[in-house]
Amino acid sequence: MKNNSQFSIVNTHSHVYDEAFDADRDEVIKRAVSQKVTKIILPDIDSTSRERMFTVAQQYPDTCFPMLGLHPTSVNEHYEQELQAVYREIDQRAIVGIGEIGIDLYWDKTFLEQQVEVFSKQMCIAQERDLPVVIHVRKAFNETYKALRDLPSQNFKGIFHCFSGSKEEALKVIEMGFHIGIGGVLTFKTSHLPEVVKLIPRDKIVLETDDPYLTPVPHRGERNEPGYVALVAEKLSEILHCSLDDVMDFTTNNALSIFNI
Ligand SMILES: [Zn+2]
Repeated sequence: MKNNSQFSIVNTHSHVYDEAFDADRDEVIKRAVSQKVTKIILPDIDSTSRERMFTVAQQYPDTCFPMLGLHPTSVNEHYEQELQAVYREIDQRAIVGIGEIGIDLYWDKTFLEQQVEVFSKQMCIAQERDLPVVIHVRKAFNETYKALRDLPSQNFKGIFHCFSGSKEEALKVIEMGFHIGIGGVLTFKTSHLPEVVKLIPRDKIVLETDDPYLTPVPHRGERNEPGYVALVAEKLSEILHCSLDDVMDFTTNNALSIFNI
């Protein structure tokens, strides 16, 4: 896809620091930039991948912006140490937000209580420091909603990333003050997301890939990469009956209202 417009895209969720890109990361990032994807937000997972994330952010300081946070699927019997590591790093690193954090009950419910604790604590860190959050929810919308509503401050800024929920859930997310991250799922043939996305106000939509996973059509089955966010933008312009420039314009403005980048 060639794009000659003056507008650019912010990819609000890419794991381009993942080992899946070790062999060709430079080309992948150049390809993204050639698709006008000029800024890429890197969500953190845990201590095993963090150093790699910060190294990539250092190598591409104008393009890649790291976050900090403990991912819900990394909450296990060692969660206290992992959380301590987040507290330690927060004053030592230049980060643009707290994430990805949240609740994931898809694989395992063993650590639900700990997931809620870790999520709530990291929400509080973000609120204290006025940092945006990126929230990962999988098969746990009600649990996540309750954890957020139980927080002492209801002042929220950030993204429910890779959203694939219902209309009702989308409206709850927006009502709390969050933005909604739309990724490759939008292009899937069986997805109900196109219907949901029509109901989301434009000033609440941001774009993402969540690469190397969730590859959009027509590349399904291959590795996803940050530049493919342009395919998501294109699909969104079809669904909303507006130009690609419009989509690039409003989603970038939304991303820049969240992240100080
Ligand atoms: Zn992710």
